[in-house]
Amino acid sequence: MAVDSSLPSPLGPPACEKDAKALQYIEQTTRNADAVQETVLAEILSRNAETEYLRRYKLGGATDRKSFKSKLPVITYEDVQPEIQRIANGDRSPILSAHPISEFLTSSGTSAGERKLMPTIQEELDRRQSLYNLLMPVMNLCVPGLDKGKGLYFLFVKSESKTPGGLLARPVLTSYYKSEHFKTRPYDPYNVYTSPNEAILCPDSFQSMYTQMLCGLLERHQVLRLGAVFASGLLRAIHFLQLNWQQLAADIRTGTLNPKITDPELRECMERKLKPEPELAEFVAEQCGEENWQGIITRIWPSTKYLDVIVTGAMAQYIPTLDYYSGGLPMACTMYASSECYFGLNLNPMCRPSQVSYTIMPNMAYFEFLPYEPNSVSFDPTRLVDLVDVVVGKEYELVITTYAGLYRYRVGDILRVTGFHNSAPQFHFVRRKNVLLSIDSDKTDEAELQLAVDNATKLVLEKLNASVVEYTSFADTKTIPGHYVIYWELLVKDSAESPSSESLSQCCLAMEESLNSVYRQCRVADNSIGPLEIRVVKSGTFEELMDYAISRGASINQYKVPRCVNFTPIMELLDSRVVSKHFSPSLPHWTPERRR
Ligand code: AMP
Repeated sequence: MAVDSSLPSPLGPPACEKDAKALQYIEQTTRNADAVQETVLAEILSRNAETEYLRRYKLGGATDRKSFKSKLPVITYEDVQPEIQRIANGDRSPILSAHPISEFLTSSGTSAGERKLMPTIQEELDRRQSLYNLLMPVMNLCVPGLDKGKGLYFLFVKSESKTPGGLLARPVLTSYYKSEHFKTRPYDPYNVYTSPNEAILCPDSFQSMYTQMLCGLLERHQVLRLGAVFASGLLRAIHFLQLNWQQLAADIRTGTLNPKITDPELRECMERKLKPEPELAEFVAEQCGEENWQGIITRIWPSTKYLDVIVTGAMAQYIPTLDYYSGGLPMACTMYASSECYFGLNLNPMCRPSQVSYTIMPNMAYFEFLPYEPNSVSFDPTRLVDLVDVVVGKEYELVITTYAGLYRYRVGDILRVTGFHNSAPQFHFVRRKNVLLSIDSDKTDEAELQLAVDNATKLVLEKLNASVVEYTSFADTKTIPGHYVIYWELLVKDSAESPSSESLSQCCLAMEESLNSVYRQCRVADNSIGPLEIRVVKSGTFEELMDYAISRGASINQYKVPRCVNFTPIMELLDSRVVSKHFSPSLPHWTPERRR
């Protein structure tokens, strides 16, 4: 689409010529949302007309919405998994996409305990980049002067593996940071990071975090914004500082690098930056040595104007902790994206977290919306509506058709329409469907938790003649890293032989072993989730819980034990009945290779 950057931007006066173009692009695309969507669909369907998938549904080369909607089913990952598995196994025929699948992006959503594999094509990198290119122009409208300093962003690559057919499988951000788009990005004064590429791209998470933190400390006065992708990641960085400030201060004092940094390229890069700076070292030691870490972020990085971090959805639980460490700095949630597809951006990024709405960019994919009716038993695909037809105030499940070859695919996110920017709707992220517990990128559903309890029972408790009468859970984010807490009420058949503390710790580990691979990776490789905890509660506690719910109006007939709790009075009731607490004694198993 040709963009006329000389027109004034309704979003506000752009900071520079490049921003003017980006803002005009947003205007034009959102004004013509429906036409853009029609074109996107026609492009996707025509280029992929000869794929096995579209031929199967006898689209016959049609590219219009009516044929598309009447012939193609609305699907979930499990429906398309056989095709994805064939591609992973090495079938290079055009199954889903006419363009060759360049790699798989490993989603944090899981299927049968393993990360979902999302096929992608080379050009998707450009499409993702095109969304990234819009973020700073919008931010510059809200926060002037960001070209006068730098961003301290904690960005990481994660381990990658190969599918049996030889394609790479890795997270979308790892793919992006390792791409030329990121590595050789042109200099942009509004987007300069303190972290060098060598630090971001170092595969060892300790070395990567250590050097990124060190660079942030060395340039503390230049830092104007501080961020990570998700809130949990930023808190992990703060925790890392708590654990490592002495060594970091020692490096700064002497101008020599911690010998634990062994990556040769990274060492070389850091040695160029380090020189003895005793005053800075003293300052860091003084601040970090204080008992009270309230406002530590603004104390160390006093010019920080905002935190750039996603605190919507499951990450909202971290807002109070981030407020505490930052002394209430604004938190900007800039974009909404997934491994399947990048969706859109927040056009008002300095708004309060509870007010965040993401504007879907109509050029990213073809979007449909399934009205969300939690109690509906039948599924009626004719109820799906197009992007421009959603209704303010209503909730929908997001359904996408992508250039990489997902057709009418249910992402699993529930969104509420808050308004429109031109004719493109804006959405509040309500939640992800079926997620019970989440600390970092892990997402544990009810069935997975049930399986974990069953396995722990089978492996440990049955031998002791004990069983779990009732249970519920809670994501405890007061500890750093956060951890899962499972409340158990036990039935012990032989009261003389209640399960020992050691057996209950083994139950914690048995539960962790049966949780999905994203959970185990967070535990083992990322250290972003702490050991799982079981709190054994007194016999009769869950009866009391039911009495409480009924006293608040629940129906006795329909009452079900909530499998996850976060309502303070209920937590207080449970905690007041705890008789013992047990933690997982070691790490569960995890390797980058998939189990199947
Ligand atoms: P993944 O496929 O692992 O990249 O995870 C993508 C999912 O993360 C999305 O489908 C959402 O559920 C969640 N997510 C991504 N961006 C946001 C956001 N800005 N706010 C809330 N949740 C988000």
